[in-house]
Amino acid sequence: MLLGLAHIIDRPGESVSFSTSVDLSDLRYGNSYPVSEPVKAEGVVRNTAGVLMMKGSITTCIHGVCDRCARNFDREVSFPIDVVLVTELTNEENEDEWVFPLEGDSADLDDIVRTVFVLNLDSKLLCKEDCKGLCCRCGKNLNDGPCNCQKELDPRFAALQQLLEK
Ligand SMILES: [Zn+2]
Ligand SMILES: [Zn+2]
Repeated sequence: MLLGLAHIIDRPGESVSFSTSVDLSDLRYGNSYPVSEPVKAEGVVRNTAGVLMMKGSITTCIHGVCDRCARNFDREVSFPIDVVLVTELTNEENEDEWVFPLEGDSADLDDIVRTVFVLNLDSKLLCKEDCKGLCCRCGKNLNDGPCNCQKELDPRFAALQQLLEK
């Protein structure tokens, strides 16, 4: 979706709000396509002393496979939109991923939402931030509780056990 900004480009203090939904179901992540639901984005573009600032939020529900524990999960994610829109990219600004060029008098919301979303998504897909993963020894999902390997691996415990067995 293109968001027309002609009426605020030269008017400091003016703003225009937006609300859109973007399809990112083609976004590949490893071997999966976790963004199967529409990605909602809303916010406002404000002309702040001549600079077009876009602020808002992106939300969706990811259906993925955890990179750490290999479990299927659904996870609500929400990322902030905080970018600057410019009529022309200079070389300097081009290196800044948070600056986007306008398409004529409009902002290409699909492109901006896609880029901000990808930049915010972690390099690993996890079912939750502190996923404990699988035990490398017995393969138990440690999110369900500790396994018995930990005790055996602890040399102090092993020594104690030897004493007890004697
Ligand atoms: Zn996990
Ligand atoms: Zn284990």
